Amino acid sequence: MAIWDFDYSSVSSITRLLEENGLGMTKKFGQNFLISAPTLDRITALCGLDESSVVWEVGPGIGALTTRLLKTGAKVTAFEIDHGFCRILREKAYIDVPNFRLIEGDALKTWKEVYEKEGAPDMICANLPYNVGSVFIASVIENRCLPSRMVYTLQSEVVERICAKMGDEQYSGFSILTGIDYENHEAMKIKSGCFFPSPNVDSSVVVMQRRKDPLVPDKEALAFLNLVRVLFSQRRKNVRNNLKALGLASEKIDSVLDKSGILPSERAEKLSVEQILTLLRNLDR
Ligand code: SAM
Repeated sequence: MAIWDFDYSSVSSITRLLEENGLGMTKKFGQNFLISAPTLDRITALCGLDESSVVWEVGPGIGALTTRLLKTGAKVTAFEIDHGFCRILREKAYIDVPNFRLIEGDALKTWKEVYEKEGAPDMICANLPYNVGSVFIASVIENRCLPSRMVYTLQSEVVERICAKMGDEQYSGFSILTGIDYENHEAMKIKSGCFFPSPNVDSSVVVMQRRKDPLVPDKEALAFLNLVRVLFSQRRKNVRNNLKALGLASEKIDSVLDKSGILPSERAEKLSVEQILTLLRNLDR
């Protein structure tokens, strides 16, 4: 096995590599490489991998984190959309590296096939543009692909939403979605100078550790998440008005809210997971 010895901290080495291969960085895919070795080492440590681990990395780029993940001995499946970067990973970086596998294409479309064949990995890590990152996280949780741990580098604002508790300004439907199966904390902030090129937003790393006892029983999770979507569908509307999207008569909505101890005028962001679960169970009666 021969893992490529490339200096991922050197902007001139990265620029030369891209030039030699007729490649560039694409804004559209949020391509900002991590060039800080201590930051990459810390993210790798947060992943907590060993030889027995199966890990997915979404958006490996040219492999700054991938190389470190591979060195733990873990089995790494990398999902990359940029065909030029894929060529570098396949033909230069990890030729004959047995614990590396590349899935080329849009991870939002490709991950499910791997999941259906092989089940959830032990770990997922990614450094993705925030729009792709939040859609990806929502998608794995909604499809009940639940690794023991996930480590994401994202725009700080998105990490704040993931970690928000009820009552926090950032608390949203996304906080609930990411919180029912995982305990989440911001492990570190990353300065924009740690990336090449530097993004003009702040970044943070969030660690999502699977709960031993999920806040919602697995058999009710999908119905619960559908209800969360309905409750948060229009932020300015109150709970009663958002529930009308379920096609229920107003009297039924009022009686269910009353039974659940929720004021019709309440906003969804004031509801706890327990209250939404009670509401779900009363709606089903
Ligand atoms: N992991 C590398 C690092 O930390 O230096 C690169 C991170 S860069 C912020 C984001 C990477 O995600 C790029 O390589 C980009 O091409 C890739 N990417 C963006 N959207 C993607 C998608 N939908 N599916 C797979 N990869 C994607």
